[in-house]
Amino acid sequence: EVKNVNENYFGAYGSFGIHREMISDKVRTDAYREAILHNPSLMKQAAVLDVGCGTGILSLFAAQAGASRVIAVEASAKMASVATQIAKDNGLLSEQSEKGEGNQSHGVIHVAHSMVEDLEKVMHIPPQSIDVLVSEWMGYCLLYESMLSSVLYARDHWLKPDGAILPDTATIFIAGFGRGGTSLPYWENVYGFDMSVIGKEVVKDAAHMPIVDILDSRDIVTDTAALHSLDLATMRPDEIDFTATTRLELKSNLPEDGACWCHGIILWFETGFTSRFCKEKPIVLSTSPYTPKTHWSQTILTFQEPIAMTTPTKPSAFPAGVVGSEECPVVRIEFRISIARSSQHRSIDISMETTG
Ligand code: SAH
Repeated sequence: EVKNVNENYFGAYGSFGIHREMISDKVRTDAYREAILHNPSLMKQAAVLDVGCGTGILSLFAAQAGASRVIAVEASAKMASVATQIAKDNGLLSEQSEKGEGNQSHGVIHVAHSMVEDLEKVMHIPPQSIDVLVSEWMGYCLLYESMLSSVLYARDHWLKPDGAILPDTATIFIAGFGRGGTSLPYWENVYGFDMSVIGKEVVKDAAHMPIVDILDSRDIVTDTAALHSLDLATMRPDEIDFTATTRLELKSNLPEDGACWCHGIILWFETGFTSRFCKEKPIVLSTSPYTPKTHWSQTILTFQEPIAMTTPTKPSAFPAGVVGSEECPVVRIEFRISIARSSQHRSIDISMETTG
């Protein structure tokens, strides 16, 4: 039942804990804040649409940045009413929104309680009248339960042809991790006792289900590849689902001396507030294991069996045997990865091939 799925989804957002988690993710919130506040030529006097405003934090930044009008759309009734109160309490709610109850402010923010797809029913915005579309729509692994399609809907209905979209790019990255990225080392020595039986079981389970967790960048054993990039200003809604092919080789500066087991891959993403729209101060919001952590962590996919790898500069004999095994290590792993949403529960399919 699609309706129920959505009720649960927006109901969960009515709990404040998740908004606290997002707002106190400093990497995330500072990226948006800087993009909005430090690009005055973009924001001053702009008509702004905030898709999925939650507490209204991005709309508050936009009002602070000198926007002439900010429409904050939120599907959760609870959050829409809270966002209205917050804008009012900070003197940033527009008079029309206040319905005449005392203490009127001269703000620019209008809060609309609606799915953005139904916005026309509660508020008329002339087509192609918005200068800046802003939204924090990203899910785990970028696209898991993401609201990107809602952002593109808003773009196609209300954004001016030369309007800006913040952020305007998104890229998914991939890298391989070694033994240290699994639970094996931990369970091998627990207060001096061997509990590796647990580690083996945990790794077996992990091979059936992606895990969202922080991975220590020191556990990465391959180079990094950009798996897929999206241009939010130009992409079509049917380009959200994708299949991409990429390859990974061992990092050149590995301590393991040119040979190593790869136990799985991690995925992460970056979104760009690029100089196309953010001329004064472009910003990158990264969820990489090489940069400070965010509430998105990384998405960890463990292989059924680890794959033995060698560096290209140290070619091995490749005797007959199972490719990727100890006797027959591979120089590179080639992946074909598909990310596809289903309308019921939004899912991610991943398939993989190895080549010698
Ligand atoms: N912009 C806020 C909240 C981001 S979370 C911030 O940056 O902190 C995403 C919000 O979008 C949630 O509050 C969710 O209820 C809302 N949302 C998701 N899909 C939506 C849709 N189709 N229309 C309107 N709001 C939506």
